[in-house]
Amino acid sequence: MKRPALFILSVLILGSVFSCQSGSQQKRILTLGIRHESNTFSTLPVTMLDFTVLRGAEALKGQKWADVIREADMEVIPTLHAYAWPGGVVEQSAFETFMNEILDSIKNAGRLDGIYMDMHGALHAEGYDDAQVTLIRKIRELTGNDVLISGSFDLHGNLSPDFVNEIDLLTAYRTAPHRDAEETRVRAVELLIDALNSGWDPHIEFVEIPILVPGEKSITEVEPLNSIYTQIPVIAGREGLLDASVFAG
Ligand SMILES: [Zn+2]
Repeated sequence: MKRPALFILSVLILGSVFSCQSGSQQKRILTLGIRHESNTFSTLPVTMLDFTVLRGAEALKGQKWADVIREADMEVIPTLHAYAWPGGVVEQSAFETFMNEILDSIKNAGRLDGIYMDMHGALHAEGYDDAQVTLIRKIRELTGNDVLISGSFDLHGNLSPDFVNEIDLLTAYRTAPHRDAEETRVRAVELLIDALNSGWDPHIEFVEIPILVPGEKSITEVEPLNSIYTQIPVIAGREGLLDASVFAG
């Protein structure tokens, strides 16, 4: 809730091929997640105890997206994946503890080709104007721009232009109530795998549209959202485009 309610349309464009990939070396994808929908109108902070935190192999158990990475013959390197039910703003100490652990894992991970972020997209932490931007910029400080970062998001995520500038690939749920969480995560890693295999340099076009949809109208099976969301796969299938998302944060 940290940004005004806007429709955000993002279109992922196939850019030029950016580099010769490193031949026969197995590609390495590091994964992380701080998935939380933070409501800044709530007076109840979300603490460390509210989160379920999974690390290492435990974070991959039963996750179809992890199987997809392995089936692509790429190495998956899980770090911290933290999830909590929607609530207020995340306590500063909890956010910083999670972020620092993720950054330490990246420092110790060795060579990386890609990063997958399993996020909600509306994370807000005490003491930060844009916690998601802080997180991804600190990751970029470690990895540079050659490591491709892909992310999956809830369509109620509030991504800022600064965040979209830092990420290479993104995709969001296409249903509300949400029934496509798993397929969205799979789509995010498939985009990353395809980009790594093809040497693509993807570019995201990001447009903020000043439309407000009341809560009782924010169901993707009824109008006005039905007409909008049913166009997403059609738009995403156009030549030169990799994906399209509509955020209604
Ligand atoms: Zn949602």
